[in-house]
Amino acid sequence: MSFLTHEQNGLVWLTSSLLDGVCHGFSTRQGGVSQPPFDTMNLAPGRDDDPAAVRENYRRFCGTLGVDPARTVLSKQVHEATVRLCTEADAGKGLLSPRDYAADALITRDANLPLVVFSADCGILLLYDPIHRAAGAIHAGGRGCAAGIPEKTVQAMTAAFGTRPEDLVAAVGPCIQQCCFETDGDVPAAMTQALGSEAAPYLARQGAKWHVDLSGLNRQWLLRAGLRPERIDRCALCTACRPDLFWSHRKMGEARGAQIAMISLGEHH
Ligand SMILES: [Zn+2]
Repeated sequence: MSFLTHEQNGLVWLTSSLLDGVCHGFSTRQGGVSQPPFDTMNLAPGRDDDPAAVRENYRRFCGTLGVDPARTVLSKQVHEATVRLCTEADAGKGLLSPRDYAADALITRDANLPLVVFSADCGILLLYDPIHRAAGAIHAGGRGCAAGIPEKTVQAMTAAFGTRPEDLVAAVGPCIQQCCFETDGDVPAAMTQALGSEAAPYLARQGAKWHVDLSGLNRQWLLRAGLRPERIDRCALCTACRPDLFWSHRKMGEARGAQIAMISLGEHH
């Protein structure tokens, strides 16, 4: 398993070889039309970027993946652990119509309903159940991870679709890695309270500060939920180390765009 980088007409995106069976992609900041400080591939509506530029960015990214931007369903992220079961009625919400929900994770069994979660350092994870043909997209920053949102999303897929965790394949996308995710003691304390001794390998003390391995912790939640280790891919790229490639809240503050993870099921046969 590995993350692969692709380029087409200047648009750069990542995929995981584990999710070859389903349409998906992780965007970068390259290949869009937005002007500074949103240059160029900003896929977050409502950040003072020109809405027409954001729509064009969606047209380009979705076109590359072969999905219809008018049918995308965007998360509304509030750093909690709410999982939304998305259906046909949600098509276009977030891009073409308002979101009448708040949810950091989205799941669906419906075809051609691309699910979208956002990041500018936070973890973004994709789940695919090839047996029941179901998909999930998760935003898991420090707070969502401490709240166990990866495990809660797996449990929601089991409840809604009958998903067996051992059948799931997962891709843990680019995020701020341990090199750059420096925190005070509150973040390690929250992780330890949630995961117990399982959190320790991902928490490193450096003087008065800590360095937290967020993608490792998100992966640990998936293992706890019952996924097999060989079915979890993990991107090693750090959003804060690679401002050429990614949006980073730590590096750029509020004057920035956001990248996305997208997953879309094909027609059921
Ligand atoms: Zn880094």
